[in-house]
Amino acid sequence: MKCIYCGSEKNFNKEHVIPQFLGSFTPINPTIQVSDGLVCRQCNSVIFSALETEFTEDSWEGITGQMLNLTGSNSVRIRGMNVQMECLSGLGDNFFNEIFPFLKEEDGRLVVDVKPQVKVRNYAGQTGCQIFSLEALEKIRAESTQSKTKLDAFNRVKKRLKMSGKNNIAVFTRSNDPHDDSQLNGAIDLVRAYGVTYNERERKSAPISQDDIKRFVVKMQYTITRNVCRFIAKVAFNYFAYSALQGKKQSMLYQHPFDKIRRFILGDEGVRMKEIIVETSDDPITYHEKESGHRYVGHVIVFFQENGFIFSKLTFLGRKVYKVLLGKAKRDFLDNNFGCGHLFFPFNHSIHNLTQQPKENSTAEEIKESFGLFRRVDLSVK
Ligand SMILES: [Zn+2]
Repeated sequence: MKCIYCGSEKNFNKEHVIPQFLGSFTPINPTIQVSDGLVCRQCNSVIFSALETEFTEDSWEGITGQMLNLTGSNSVRIRGMNVQMECLSGLGDNFFNEIFPFLKEEDGRLVVDVKPQVKVRNYAGQTGCQIFSLEALEKIRAESTQSKTKLDAFNRVKKRLKMSGKNNIAVFTRSNDPHDDSQLNGAIDLVRAYGVTYNERERKSAPISQDDIKRFVVKMQYTITRNVCRFIAKVAFNYFAYSALQGKKQSMLYQHPFDKIRRFILGDEGVRMKEIIVETSDDPITYHEKESGHRYVGHVIVFFQENGFIFSKLTFLGRKVYKVLLGKAKRDFLDNNFGCGHLFFPFNHSIHNLTQQPKENSTAEEIKESFGLFRRVDLSVK
């Protein structure tokens, strides 16, 4: 047993192939187990967990994942360093006027879901902002009488809201009648129940119809940073490792051709970003997407051999596609069947094998079986 990243031979951890905030999957959730002895605790809980936080709070994919609330989390946190976003709600375009656009999936597309919410700038004294759905704040308060743990959770949010300062809070609600302020008044009472001295500066309203919501445009400008690339490279290598593991071929993961990607993921400044993330594009990955002109809104990961090198292509939530150089291919991998690919669809938690004949309702055993190094039977996928 030896960590495929740093080479450590002790203290192993469990490592999810798809980061948990991007969804969980059934009937299996691809995970490298402690007993597999492939990812150590230092890599998993120190290095990767910091990268994941940065990715979640400060990348297009991370924030979009949070907007979809795939984990049922109480709030969304936006660090605001590399991603700037605006949502045209008709009220203006600054912190106090702009409603935060939650998202939901509808007929294979992501659409805006306008939820009553409390936006907090500098939550707990940190830069960026935190967005709570009103529903979540109500729930945390209502449950605080149920147990000591729930009371602690309520007090924690209360304390952090207080630290944020009374001038950093914006409350948004919806009403069918423009003269009916009861929803808004209720929300302000709730904020006060959290101990915030809510100083009302201004009250505004804007008409928003169902059609308007459909036309909502969420604009995000973002920079793909080195740490975002390290995180993406890690997911690609984890997927490759998980596939190798299924065929009991994990010993090949320690080979030298993979040293460079390992070093990059662990933060070695000597490896340039371009050497690992060799291409980013908006082009679809799968044959189906190319044919239909419609991108999946799920996560797609594939790996394959090309000109003697092993590449992975991946996308989260169907936007930017990253091509990752995993390493040079040894002779064994020049076989035509070398490769594997899956679509992870977080809205119904399903996993679809992309490189073999797809099948409805596969069993856990069949899904597991669909991971491997030589699973690229259908050559139309690349
Ligand atoms: Zn390690």
